[in-house]
Amino acid sequence: MAIEIIQPRQRVERVRHTLYFERIAERGSGFALSCDEHGKLLGDQYATAAEREARAAELRADAAFDAPVIQTYRHTYVEPAVGRCSCGCKVALPDPLSNECEDCGRWYNMMGQSKINPHGELARALDAEGSY
Ligand SMILES: [Zn+2]
Repeated sequence: MAIEIIQPRQRVERVRHTLYFERIAERGSGFALSCDEHGKLLGDQYATAAEREARAAELRADAAFDAPVIQTYRHTYVEPAVGRCSCGCKVALPDPLSNECEDCGRWYNMMGQSKINPHGELARALDAEGSY
């Protein structure tokens, strides 16, 4: 029997951009500042947008660097499905075979189908018998 899937498994794509200043004498090295897709500089935990603008102005004025280019980085990952355990709690289903409800200890596969505890007494007995 399968539990209700309250959030389906989904592929998530994250995109970030940097304004990259490449050092002319040492290709492949330089500075990258966080920006949006149009090159507008962004603040983060290390610097405010104004601090980045000041640094970009220094780099633009420095003849050792090429004119900046916008670089785009994309990465994707899969967020696991989340099911509603028969005890009522949410249970994440990232593993193909073994996902445990942290509240009641029931086990499910990634499709939300109930399964026996893979570390429990019944699994050990079936394994010893060669049928599991
Ligand atoms: Zn549960």
